[in-house]
This record gives sequence, structure tokens and C-alpha cells, in this order.
Amino acid sequence: MVNIPLPMKGQARELIVGIDLGTTNSLCAEVVNGKPVVILDREGRAITPSVVGIDDEHHAVVGDAAVERGLTNPAGTIRSVKRFMGRGLKDISDVEVGRLPYKIVRTAGSEQVAVRVHGREYLPQELSALILGEVKKRAVKATGGKLKRAVITVPAYFDDGQRQATRDAGRMAGIDVLRIINEPTAAALAYGLHRGKSGTVLVYDLGGGTFDVSILKLTEGVFKVIATTGNTALGGDDFDYAMIDLLTAGLSDEDKAALDAHVQGRVALKMAAERAKIALSGQDSTSIQLHVGDVSLDTTVTRAQYEAAIDPFVELTFDAIDFVLDEAGLDPEDIGDVVCVGGSTRTPLVRARLEEHFDKPPHTDLDPDQVVAMGAAIQASMLAGEHAGDGTVLLDVTPLSLGIETYGGGCSKLLWRNSPIPVRATEGYTTQVDDQTSVDIHVLQGEREMAKDLRSLGRFKLRGIPPMKAGMPRVLIEFFIDANGILKVQAKEMTSGVEAGIEVTPTYGLTDDQVEDMIFDSIEHAEEDVEAHLLADTKVEAGSVLRYSRKIIVDRPDLVPPPLAVQIEAAIGGLVAALESPDREVIDAAMQVLNESTAPVAAHLMNEVLQVTVHGKTMGEVLGTKPRTKASEIQLT
Ligand code: AMP
Repeated sequence: MVNIPLPMKGQARELIVGIDLGTTNSLCAEVVNGKPVVILDREGRAITPSVVGIDDEHHAVVGDAAVERGLTNPAGTIRSVKRFMGRGLKDISDVEVGRLPYKIVRTAGSEQVAVRVHGREYLPQELSALILGEVKKRAVKATGGKLKRAVITVPAYFDDGQRQATRDAGRMAGIDVLRIINEPTAAALAYGLHRGKSGTVLVYDLGGGTFDVSILKLTEGVFKVIATTGNTALGGDDFDYAMIDLLTAGLSDEDKAALDAHVQGRVALKMAAERAKIALSGQDSTSIQLHVGDVSLDTTVTRAQYEAAIDPFVELTFDAIDFVLDEAGLDPEDIGDVVCVGGSTRTPLVRARLEEHFDKPPHTDLDPDQVVAMGAAIQASMLAGEHAGDGTVLLDVTPLSLGIETYGGGCSKLLWRNSPIPVRATEGYTTQVDDQTSVDIHVLQGEREMAKDLRSLGRFKLRGIPPMKAGMPRVLIEFFIDANGILKVQAKEMTSGVEAGIEVTPTYGLTDDQVEDMIFDSIEHAEEDVEAHLLADTKVEAGSVLRYSRKIIVDRPDLVPPPLAVQIEAAIGGLVAALESPDREVIDAAMQVLNESTAPVAAHLMNEVLQVTVHGKTMGEVLGTKPRTKASEIQLT
């Protein structure tokens, strides 16, 4: 029996779960006492069939109830909705659509497909939400807990749209989706392979109707899918049909035709074939007796016969393995661990062939149907701040640094590349000119130093800043990347409280190759970039020093006698001329001369500050536009 803590009286415990939202079946697991366990419902069932039944009054039933009603309501029974998540009509083959008992249509105003059932359209994510809702209901009933937060798994090949649709389905089911993770990554997590810190893992996933193989690279506890391929029409069903051929080999053509014409006969034969297949996973031969109408079948099949029959299908999976290895530039001996996922990996031939190919036994200790949900539960538990017994593990990182454009065209970085997410960073900024009532926040991504060389993620304006001297407003900018990789940028002016912000997905539309190019570029241009950034910052600082110096001549003639004014004017002229130079040191030297010429005035002003603050004036009112150069007070545009 599964050990699930009982809730205290009157207090529902929060369930933080991992959900394997499968094409055929879905299931849910949680971490209990540091170990992932699949949640069984009150009837002891681990699996919820991913099937939705909709009757002509548009009442929906989900899971086993939908499967039961499927025979009487084929046009309202929706299976395999996962295949349509986040897809457009152009992504789906006509063959796929043609085989379905319901209609696939394009939604009005969007490229996305919908399922038309009894004259009404349902989005795939709505149907998936119903499945997630059923999984949730069962878990809640079985444990007495409250299910609000979950990690949901998707195939490694899912694109952004498919992942977003899955996230939306979670939200519609009232679930806060902590993260969407790849199914192979979840499987590797379930086997604790992230503890190795580095290595290469091949995940072999052979289910009833689909096959996927992925290679994951683990670096510093972070998994990355480096190659993946598969076949959406290869799996245990093919083994069943191979078995049917073996079982009926001795029948006459008339008997075969009679069996085929008999609907229930066909179903019974398929079930008998699956039973025989499963029996041969544990024994060397099995006998089958079946009577359908006038046809009787009584035969024995050996494992050797069966293995010869399924060998071509198993071979196809090894072709795919060779393809991903080639794609990743690896040889079989480079693979450190092989993980089995999916019910058909219980087939001894599959396991033996994997062991032979990689010269090491695959991981098979965990239930291959449950391993993905278990890994997702481990991830959920980590994200919720519980640790599945092994401390913090980094699973996702920001691939590129993130920052904002500062005055002069430089970039001030708030988050550095490879920061584990979720992550938060805050930095203080100020304004460049007097009475600036708004600032532009330009969010940038990449490793280069200047805004023009970086990827622009978005811009927004923080308006409504009360007029103040330059350098006085305190603009606090916060970057937060949540567990799903979504970046929220928030800017707040602290004296007035005005706020603004945006939300972007930094990795949207970014390929791994682009990330690599951007990093490579920054290394190539490192020296010139740093120099350009320093030059830009020096020019900004020189601009402030110039404004300040000009202002004190005009505003404080009492402190600037004519000979000093001449000296300052000359130094101003020197700095203006120096600003034409591309040499930072020339500008620095001219700035130094100007600062020295205004130093007696600055000292006098400082004394005034000390006195007048006592009389209630603020430091800013007295200091005017005194330039600020501290890193935490970088000026915004
Ligand atoms: P999945 O889609 O991962 O649930 O896998 C289901 C497939 O696994 C079906 O084709 C089952 O017939 C097959 N399967 C389940 N148990 C076994 C077993 N012991 N030996 C071989 N195939 C199995």
C-alpha cells in the first residue's frame, strides 16, 4: 500500500504533485517522506484514461467512465487529444484526421484546431483540462488533500505553442503549473540521475502507440535534451498485431475472414494477443484458446517465435537510436545511463537489445508506466521548496544574461547567464536630467556590453515621476524569472511609488544555436565591448560633470569669483573638446581637470549641506546636480 500521510482533522494538506498527462493514460504522483509515489484512487487505480466523453447535451465524463461509454457514443468519445494540443490544421496530417470519429476544425480567429463534438467546438486544452480535472479529483478524493500546484510533463519535441497549451490546460483545471518539464527529463530524475552532476543519459520510451528516444546531457545537475526523435505510430500495438498473425497462422483463409468480419471477435483476438504478449515477457511459451462464432483457436506460441515476429519493429527503434546518437555526435559507449519508459519496455527482447547495444543494462527497476509521473513529482517537490532527500538541484538555468539599457547605450546586467531559475534580482537606478518625469526601460538579453549588440526583449515607460533634480529619483528595478522561465520586469520609483512593468518569455523563438552564437560573439568581442562600455559610461559621467559645472557658474556667482569662472570655463572647453576623442583616458584626464577647478566650490557646498540640513533643507536641494557615479545609481534613459 502507498504510504500517504493522512490529513489532520479539519485541515486539508496541500498536495504538490507531478502529472504525466499522457496520450492514452494520465497519472499523478507526489513525494512522500522523500520518495515519489503514484497516487492510487479509492478503487486502487493509478491510471486515468486520457479519454473524454461528451453526450449530445454536452455533459462530459472523463477517464474510465468515458471509455465505458465509448462503445455507445463513438462520435462523442475523444481520445489522444494530446496530439492536437497547440497545433494548427497544417501541423496535422489528413490521415490522422481522417481516422477520427469526430471532426477537427480550425478555430475562428486563430490557427489552432478545435474538436467539433455534437455541433460544438472544444479546444484541445479545454479537453485536456477536463482530464487534468479528473486526475485532480481522484487524487483529492484518495488523499483528502488539496491539489493546487503541479508539474506537468510533455514530450521533449513539444514546441512553445504545445507547452503553452498544456500550461493553459493546467490553469483551466484550477492548477498552478509550477513548471512544464520534458518526459525524458522526468524519467531521469525518477532514477536520481541528476545526483551524478554530469553525464549523458539516453531515455528509451516505448508505449502502446508511440516511441520516443532522447539524449539528455547533465551538467552541474542541469538536464538538457540534446537530441530527440520518435515515431508516433510505433509501439506495443504493433507487437499485438504481430502476435495476432502468429496466433492465426494455422487458420484457414475462411476462418481468418470470419474472425475479421466479427467485431467482437476482432476485439477478443486483440485482447488475447496482448495477454499472450504480456505472458511471454515472463515465460518461454504460452497457450491461447479462443472461440469466436464457429471459429476455434487453440495454439501455443514460444518466446522465440514471438521475438522473431516483433524483431523488425524493435529494429526500427534502434534505427532511431542510431539517428539521435549521430545527431548528438555520440557513440553508444558515450551513454552513461539508459532509462526505460513505457509499458512495452517490459519486453525482454527490448531490454536485451538495449543491453547489447550500450554494453550495460538499462534502468528498469521502477515501473516504466509510472516513472515519468514520479520524476515530475520530484521536480514539483523541489520547486515547492521541499527537497526529495538530496538538497537543491538545478534543473533549469537562464541561457543568457538579462539586463536593461542605461544612459549612453550600455547594458546594466541584473541576471547573469546560467542563473538557476526561479531567480530574482533588484537594482537601484536614477535619472540623468533634471525634472525627468519618465524613464524608458529597455529589457535586453545577451552577453555583449552595448545595447545595440544585444537582443531586445521589450520596452516600457515608467511615467508619473514627480519633477526632481537629476540623480534624485530612486528607481528600483526588479527582474524575476519564474519556474516556467517567464521574465517579469517591474520598475518602481520609490519616492512617489509609481510603478510599471512587463512580462516576457526570454527564450521565446530562441534556438540553441542562436544562444551559442550569442555567447561565442561575446567572447570574440569581449575586449572591445568592455572598452566601448567604459567609454560610454565615461561620456555619460562627463556630461553630468559638464552640466554641474555650468550650473554652479550661473547659480552661485557668490562662490565663483571671475578668475575661478575663467578657469572653470577653460576646463569646460577642455572637456568638451576631449569628448570628441574615442580615447577614454583623454576624457578622464579632462574631467579630472574640470573636477579640480570646481573642487573649492564643491567643498563649500558640502559645508552648506551640513549646515542647512539642520534648517530643514534636503541634501538634494543644496547639492543640485552633483554627478553620481556609484554602480547602484546608474542613470536610466
Ligand atoms: P504505455 O503506453 O506506456 O502504457 O504502454 C502500454 C503498452 O505496454 C501496451 O502495448 C501494453 O500491451 C504494453 N505492456 C504492458 N505490460 C507489458 C509487458 N509485461 N510486456 C510487454 N508489453 C507490455
